[in-house]
Amino acid sequence: MTVNQTNVADSPPANTSIAASSRPSFLAKGEIVNVLVGQDKTRYKLHKVLLTAKSPYFATSLKDCWNGKTNDIDLTDEDTSAFDVFVDWLYEGSIGVPRSIGVGEDLFATHTILTLKVFRLAEKFMINEMKNSLLDAVKDCFAKRRHSANILALSDLHSHEGSDTQLYRMFLRDCVARYMKSPACFEGDKNGMGELMEDPKVAKDMLENIREYNKAPWGFMYEAEGCEYHDHTDGSKCD
Ligand SMILES: [Zn+2]
Repeated sequence: MTVNQTNVADSPPANTSIAASSRPSFLAKGEIVNVLVGQDKTRYKLHKVLLTAKSPYFATSLKDCWNGKTNDIDLTDEDTSAFDVFVDWLYEGSIGVPRSIGVGEDLFATHTILTLKVFRLAEKFMINEMKNSLLDAVKDCFAKRRHSANILALSDLHSHEGSDTQLYRMFLRDCVARYMKSPACFEGDKNGMGELMEDPKVAKDMLENIREYNKAPWGFMYEAEGCEYHDHTDGSKCD
């Protein structure tokens, strides 16, 4: 979207671009919202104009008639590390795959759960743009092998979320691609694999993906169009 200087007004329309509404001079004059996150009630002081421009969830929650006179939002059920990723996205317009501390298999599992929490936040806040950015970042990480899905990670994802999300489909593909290229690297995952394959839906998805892989092994994972995993149910389009 092209940003027009004259669009910057006291009260921008709901679809004001983030570039316009996040200009420091604009934000400095803006209203602040207190968002309390996590069981410790960590307080985030965020700009209302950004929250409402980007998220229908916040736009609804912060309507005066709805929320009384306070500008407080309670998100004590949410995780601060996932919320941090959202805040960075809100102010910087870009998203990274969440990094977490851990070693070996724990790293994959922790990383998967955190990625999933961020994905869920984007769904809760009704921000497809953020969800799609996260999916792009995950796909990019897989392609560059900075992170990999593995069976344990996939199993975690499945047990937390079921098998109907874009994130699950992406993790499944990465698992299948890695397994088909080097079955030996899944030696330690045999138990996880067995457990996962007990679910008929997962077994069917896995077999379908193996069939796809055999048809075009080199283009299986990363040469598909970027939009493949996106959610455009809000009518948005990729450039
Ligand atoms: Zn797209």
